[in-house]
Amino acid sequence: MDSAQQSEKLYDAIVVGAGPGGSASALFLANAGKSVLVLEKSRFPREKVCGDAFSGKSIGVMRDLGLLSQIEKHSFGIVRCVTMISPNGKRVTVPFPPAKGMEFAGYTIARIDTDNIFFQEVLRHRNITVLQNFQVQSVLKNGLGAAIGVEGASTAGAREKQSFKARIVVGADGAASAVSRSLGLPNSPLAHVYSAVRGYWKGVSGLSDSIELYFIDGVLPGYLWIFPMGNGMANVGLGILSSDLQKGGRHPAAVLTDAIANHPAIKDRFASAQQVGKIGGWSIPNGSFKKQNLGEGWVLVGDAASLVDPFSGEGVGNALASGKFAAHAIISALEKDKDANPIPSSLLQDYPKNVDVYLRPEMANSYKLQRLSRFRFLLNLFIGKAATKPAARQMVIDMLASSDAKKKVESPLFYLKLLLP
Ligand SMILES: Cc1cc2nc3c(=O)[nH]c(=O)nc-3n(C[C@H](O)[C@H](O)[C@H](O)COP(=O)(O)OP(=O)(O)OC[C@H]3O[C@@H](n4cnc5c(N)ncnc54)[C@H](O)[C@@H]3O)c2cc1C
Repeated sequence: MDSAQQSEKLYDAIVVGAGPGGSASALFLANAGKSVLVLEKSRFPREKVCGDAFSGKSIGVMRDLGLLSQIEKHSFGIVRCVTMISPNGKRVTVPFPPAKGMEFAGYTIARIDTDNIFFQEVLRHRNITVLQNFQVQSVLKNGLGAAIGVEGASTAGAREKQSFKARIVVGADGAASAVSRSLGLPNSPLAHVYSAVRGYWKGVSGLSDSIELYFIDGVLPGYLWIFPMGNGMANVGLGILSSDLQKGGRHPAAVLTDAIANHPAIKDRFASAQQVGKIGGWSIPNGSFKKQNLGEGWVLVGDAASLVDPFSGEGVGNALASGKFAAHAIISALEKDKDANPIPSSLLQDYPKNVDVYLRPEMANSYKLQRLSRFRFLLNLFIGKAATKPAARQMVIDMLASSDAKKKVESPLFYLKLLLP
């Protein structure tokens, strides 16, 4: 099909952005026989600034799509534990619960590889048309304000505007979503966004199968992470709340390089390490802000819908899960009315319902943990006790295993148990 024919055609769905959220939406829709146009501004394989942690939730959706075995073709690390280091240098390592059907909790694998596993399947799919190097600039609307397509231009070569039509537009274009902006939706407030940076180092000493979270001054309630990549490399980064930066906090990249050179709990690990490549940065829009995620003829998924876990900063799992939920809602809307154009929000209610039931409770509990993590004395107490007291250590293990256990941070009993000798 040439580009004029692509412009003429009415697709069931246009998916803007081919990251995890967009690829998952496109694949679930296409597997159900829907015609999908995927518009992606870069060219794959492409890098994505990330900590590269790929958890149980992500593994589940990758398995659903029949792609899990492809991880083995790439370099990866296996994660079994998490080590937390308090501001005063106390350290505790606890096992993560294994991912469903696995003997370990998750992987560390570079996003250039994971995202490309999904994207290559998108490219192969007969029901999906893909345009790379195409940047969407705005959403086309009908006289009633409903989304009916998108307009944009190629980022390579001819740059004249081109538009495409569909029954629904899926905004999966990440933290700086052009779809969200064009729909007039507010950005996530700065108190609900991390400004995060990461780089790669080789030769960091003491790497294991544990991801490491250093709660250090100047970063709280965020943390500095060291994630072993399984090939002698480490993904090292940190996230600081954007609202703290606005109040005059130091740039995250400066805090990171300073910590690596000077922090007493960190610098020795990097004594023989070399940085590989540059430090990259990007925003992390947290799910502590409840952003509108559907309207007439449109849905938003993943970072475009502000769905990142506010404590861990993990967003790939929720991007994949929201992409899957959005696709299922669209498929069921078209079962109810196969000619719907644009698909009305009244037929898409399963989407926000599933996000509310399956994703929001965990994000709400993580937000409680995030707010507590602002207090260094609490982190010192909590991690210090977990390092020495089996009952407190078990509390951490329970909190990692169950979202409900995280709720306990609201209970006075939780603090009493911590304070008891
Ligand atoms: C430093 C850092 C560390 C992180 N660490 C982790 C981690 O370890 N584990 C984890 O799970 N999550 C982590 N996250 C969060 C995670 O990266 C995101 O939540 C995840 O990438 C969201 O996926 P997505 O598909 O919604 O968006 P993205 O992955 O951002 O994909 C969006 C896609 O849309 C394309 N696009 C953007 N604009 C347009 C446009 N106008 N037109 C066409 N295409 C467009 C982009 O090129 C991109 O391919 C981290 C984030 C940062 C910044």
